[in-house]
Amino acid sequence: MEHTRKYSIYHKDPAGVRDILGTTKTLEYPLGERLPLFLWPVHDAIVEDELHQRQIVENLIGHGVAVISKWQWKKKEKTLADGLRVARIQKDLGLHVCIDATRVMYGFFNGDSRTAHLDDQGNPFFDSSIPSGRIGCPFRIDHRYESMRKQIEFFVSAYKQEGLQIDMVWGDWEIDGPLEINRAWEAAKRCAVCRKRIPHLDKFEAFQDAVRVKRAEATRLCYTDPILSRFPSALVGNYAVYPHDGFRYWYDYFEDFIEYHPHHLDQLAPCRRWYHEFELTNYTFAMPVAYPWARLYGWYNYENSDFRWFYNMLRVGSNAAAHTRFDIPLIPFVHYQTIYEPDPGDPTIKQMSTSAYQELLWHLILRGCDSLFLWCLPEQNTREVPLIHKVWAESLRYTKWLNKGIPITFNVPNQISPVISGLRVGNQVLVRRTDFNDTTGTPVQIRVADGMLTVPADPGQCQILGLDACDA
Ligand SMILES: [Zn+2]
Repeated sequence: MEHTRKYSIYHKDPAGVRDILGTTKTLEYPLGERLPLFLWPVHDAIVEDELHQRQIVENLIGHGVAVISKWQWKKKEKTLADGLRVARIQKDLGLHVCIDATRVMYGFFNGDSRTAHLDDQGNPFFDSSIPSGRIGCPFRIDHRYESMRKQIEFFVSAYKQEGLQIDMVWGDWEIDGPLEINRAWEAAKRCAVCRKRIPHLDKFEAFQDAVRVKRAEATRLCYTDPILSRFPSALVGNYAVYPHDGFRYWYDYFEDFIEYHPHHLDQLAPCRRWYHEFELTNYTFAMPVAYPWARLYGWYNYENSDFRWFYNMLRVGSNAAAHTRFDIPLIPFVHYQTIYEPDPGDPTIKQMSTSAYQELLWHLILRGCDSLFLWCLPEQNTREVPLIHKVWAESLRYTKWLNKGIPITFNVPNQISPVISGLRVGNQVLVRRTDFNDTTGTPVQIRVADGMLTVPADPGQCQILGLDACDA
């Protein structure tokens, strides 16, 4: 270790790496077979010097954190060389080889008029309701597939040739490809191609289904299949794509609520009809998004403001957990600080407490999440990283439960009442209970498998409890 310490004197770690190592501890409980923790600041963790790179990879995994290489088509030679260098180190150390493929997934809509909608006079036009201004006709991107697929293949085949493994690829592919959000339906109704391709275009549901089928096709042919055909066991996924109950309980920053989109109200929260896209993409892991978007604060009237955040975020995570197959890893994106964009900062919105956020993370883990993925801005690193790391690192104490346990519930109470999550192994349950009002004196009883579970309050702690037999 002596040489490593001396080495550090001459090589200062990048800011994101310093922020992680400086605000977290080395793991107290071994990672074992668990997935590592994913933190946005590791986008900073790629350096040219091989010895320094190895030291960064080793130091971060000592804290349980994965280094993620970033492929970029515009810098393909350099980012491939960087990725291969990191992958060789990760292979040598027996670690997961993890990739951010976002910058090779973009470009189906590249601004070319051949990808635009066409009006009755044959004039091309783009959908102005979606940022970028490049979203065009879902049915005029097929000619883009070959070059999009080649972008992924350029990287993937190089790893294959080098005898390297790819274990996990994720993307933050959002504002590109076919989308039904905002006023996309209005644009499609003006397009002669869309009208021809969607016989019941007068029904939003028909439009949504057709668009999402096309989006999934583009994903599968140009992203998932080229990776999985070479690395069949790789985890491949994308931000915000996950199995669900047919509804989406949140809006991304570039999405607006449109009255005519099919939805139901949960208090004032518009829960949109959402298509089952995950199943058509061939994705091998799921990435729900449990963020404290500013707009969700006003959707609910809970007196305890923490519960407004907690309720929505746990609902989003639980929706994915309840509908994702047990063998498909679940890695939710999470974030602590209120996300105002596009809303202006609003002083009437009360930031979620750190304890409510950390309780949320525990409940996500105890409902079957396999790891967590923190998104944050660089100036938020030192605030965000220690909060998530503490919970996740502590959860490794319960590896046996996390690996084998079956979630006992996905229920999120819509009135303020104790929230219970747990993992059952046999007739024992690792359980956590969180109270948002003064109910801690009363044990909660819930039915679990063939037994009854009695959960006393034990604030801020996990409990291991036995199931009592109960009459059927
Ligand atoms: Zn069209």
